[in-house]
Amino acid sequence: MQVDLLIIGQGLCGSWLSYECQQAGLRVCVIDTIHPNTPSRISAGIINPITGRRHVEVWLSDELLSHAQAAYASMGEWLNRSLIRQSTLIDFFPSEQMRTSFIERLKQQGKYVAPVYYSDIPDLPFEIPHGAGLIDPAYLIDLPSLLEGNRNKLLETGSLLDEKFESSLLQIESEKLWYKNIEAERVIFCDGNSQLADRFFPNLPFAQNKGEVLILEIPELPSDRIYKHGVMLAPLSNGYWWCGSSYQWSFDHPYPTPSFREQTEQTLKKWLKLPYRVIDHIAGIRPATLERRPFVGFSSSEKRIGILNGMGTKGCSLAPYFARQLVRHWMYEEPIHPEASVGRFEAKA
Ligand SMILES: Cc1cc2nc3c(=O)[nH]c(=O)nc-3n(C[C@H](O)[C@H](O)[C@H](O)COP(=O)(O)OP(=O)(O)OC[C@H]3O[C@@H](n4cnc5c(N)ncnc54)[C@H](O)[C@@H]3O)c2cc1C
Repeated sequence: MQVDLLIIGQGLCGSWLSYECQQAGLRVCVIDTIHPNTPSRISAGIINPITGRRHVEVWLSDELLSHAQAAYASMGEWLNRSLIRQSTLIDFFPSEQMRTSFIERLKQQGKYVAPVYYSDIPDLPFEIPHGAGLIDPAYLIDLPSLLEGNRNKLLETGSLLDEKFESSLLQIESEKLWYKNIEAERVIFCDGNSQLADRFFPNLPFAQNKGEVLILEIPELPSDRIYKHGVMLAPLSNGYWWCGSSYQWSFDHPYPTPSFREQTEQTLKKWLKLPYRVIDHIAGIRPATLERRPFVGFSSSEKRIGILNGMGTKGCSLAPYFARQLVRHWMYEEPIHPEASVGRFEAKA
């Protein structure tokens, strides 16, 4: 098989990269094995433009949000599925300090924040000790549908190999790159935490971050919004609720822990005034980075090898945006954002 690009991994990054390449008329082959707890498979699919205790706007929020709306809509048309849903997020402040910080943002006329009018609140089945604020708009991405849709499309054209990629079998020759019987112009690694591209990008400061989640059944909770009170409650396309998650830089193992479940259930019991049932408890590792910026670009020592990784907590908004930049960089030599380009490490080396 002869292709323009061999992509390793079909999570959010590999799905977006293969989509962008196909839209640009490039021939791709994707190698991926399904692991149920990879981040793209357990993420809530939330795009939230506001972050942290000070309610600040996320990096590149305006560009990322407007790109995400258009990009998910067009991938949705291509797959004949609805992938993005606009929503609002009600932030129930866990402390007076968080309430004060939100009010400050309102006074500064910050974007994406709005007051919640108390006339709206009595209908909501939550305890509200420190008030609440609105984050608007937020978005929900249907990740199971996106991953399955892209996989099926690739399978239909014989462009997906469901197998484990073995780095030692990648042959780099002066004219071509080979992997088994696949001849490719370039290879781009979208393998998340596997970090298979280390030998081409030895300086990238990856920093894995663990997240645990409870999947809940809450039949009486209205599913038109996302709710937050330390933990997030987000409606899933299968009718259940996603409740999480933890954010751990240091951990002994990648599995669910009883302490997360206990703490989360304590929060729920104080906050949510409806009965719920725990359906599942899962954990995964985010491919995060020390500087909280992604890794995008081609290696300076082997320009035919590239990477799209390090999306951390924001894969849903960063992956589509930087997949497009990477393809346009390859095809038209357009620049990659300097804070995301892998060139920032290679220049220092
Ligand atoms: C608990 C949790 C909640 C999250 N919630 C959100 C959220 O609400 N919103 C948001 O924007 N982000 C969220 N994230 C972050 C987001 O999920 C990630 O940034 C994103 O999914 C990373 O995608 P990826 O494609 O880089 O990696 P992955 O999802 O890990 O995909 C990599 C793929 O490569 C495959 N692969 C790896 N090695 C090999 C090999 N040797 N051979 C074949 N295949 C291989 C894997 O099986 C996988 O399919 C969350 C993450 C976690 C853990």
